Amino acid sequence: MKRPGSFPWRLYRWFVVKQVFWSAVLFLALSLIVGLTSDSFWLVFFSFGLAFLSVITISLLMARRLLLPLGRLIERTRRMRKNPFDEEEVTPEAMAFDEPGEWYELERALNRLGRDLRTKTIRLSREKTELRAIMSAVSEAVFAISRDRRILFFNPQFTDLFGEVPDPGETRMSEVLRSPDVVEAYTEVLKTGLPIRREVIEEVGADRTPRNFLLSLAPLAKKHNGEIYGAVGIFHDITEMKAAERIRIEFVGNVSHELRTPLTTINGYLQTLESDMKQGRMDHAQEFLKIISDNVKRLRVLVDDLLDLSALESGKDLKFEIIRLQDITESVMSQVNVSNHKVHVVYEVDQMQGDPKRIEQVLRNLMENAVRYVPEGKDIEVRWVAGPDGKTELHVKDNGPGILPKHQPRLFERFYRVDEGRARKEGGTGIGLSLVKHIVQRHGGQVHVKSQVGQGSEFICEFPKLPH
Ligand code: ADP
Repeated sequence: MKRPGSFPWRLYRWFVVKQVFWSAVLFLALSLIVGLTSDSFWLVFFSFGLAFLSVITISLLMARRLLLPLGRLIERTRRMRKNPFDEEEVTPEAMAFDEPGEWYELERALNRLGRDLRTKTIRLSREKTELRAIMSAVSEAVFAISRDRRILFFNPQFTDLFGEVPDPGETRMSEVLRSPDVVEAYTEVLKTGLPIRREVIEEVGADRTPRNFLLSLAPLAKKHNGEIYGAVGIFHDITEMKAAERIRIEFVGNVSHELRTPLTTINGYLQTLESDMKQGRMDHAQEFLKIISDNVKRLRVLVDDLLDLSALESGKDLKFEIIRLQDITESVMSQVNVSNHKVHVVYEVDQMQGDPKRIEQVLRNLMENAVRYVPEGKDIEVRWVAGPDGKTELHVKDNGPGILPKHQPRLFERFYRVDEGRARKEGGTGIGLSLVKHIVQRHGGQVHVKSQVGQGSEFICEFPKLPH
């Protein structure tokens, strides 16, 4: 179909047909009435004919003149719709001031409308751009649905977490988010129209790993009548925070437990000692004081270990320097009672870079464990080895009882003990290997254990070559 041009031909055609038709009817009727009652019929007929022709011509010309601006206005409206940002379309200069009366008013009104439309379109498009930028910049996943649970919009972080959404307009929320808690939370907001916050667990990634989220939901309401048309949710990943909180709670529980045992013993013996003294009995005093003193020592060791651990975890700086390995090994041998074991020391390297106090602490902890858990008379071997890529390795090997495979991955956790009762009786705090792990890691290295039950254990610390 051919598009109408800028002149409103249809309206003009309609006007012409009507004008000619009714003029002809009027002309014939008048001619007949006047002509039949007059003697000079043809004279009247021609005069009327001439008069009507002149009227028709004038009125058609006037109509054309009147309709011309309408065509122009139609054309301009079309252009405004097509190019809402084009300022030229809506400036007052673009108006034709010579148009008669109301045309001028209409054109002015149209121009104002166009200007408003332009300002609103620009504002809306700017807001959209800003919103998109914010949505992509936030680290949280954003996801919105409509009342019928279809997807409205989401940000790239959402697809990073929950995977691609194939056909957003058509996909239902339940095809992307599976947790009933999440679905229920969205449903509640759609129903009540009130914002809510919930802790939820949702599976993410191809392997569907569960993660903890703090989900903040808000309703989407139409501005003019407040009708709720959807809900938008922000998924704040709190998995690490939750894990840290769990570890902290466990840690506080463990520390309290570790402190309570020696404190209960000290308290009990002090009370007994007090009542003995009141009765003038001092025969067991020496023995009780020894027990109290041992437990105070145990408390000190525990508190020292905890302070060490906290210093290492809070990232306190280490003092790196060249360490002579023989010096620190001999120092450890003089501090740990190794007289009941056969100890061999091998130096394949004689120096490394690190914090001497901390490296000494690593060796001391490993040696204390070996002496503690390996029966008397057995072998303990300390080897300083030159590893690949300039690494220095410390191997502490014994032929003691060994450790079951199920315990091995957890040995380096704080307060983890294979045999709780025995380890505590032997004076262990349960923090030794966790300190070893932290120190080695702060040197950029790693620690692992090789062990077979009945054949012994070997703890290996790898220290990478540090840049100078
Ligand atoms: P603890 O202070 O109890 O020794 P650690 O963190 O040093 O704590 O060690 C954790 C556990 O690992 C110990 O309780 C012990 O059961 C086991 N372990 C450590 N070293 C050895 C070893 N050389 N042989 C056998 N078991 C060991």
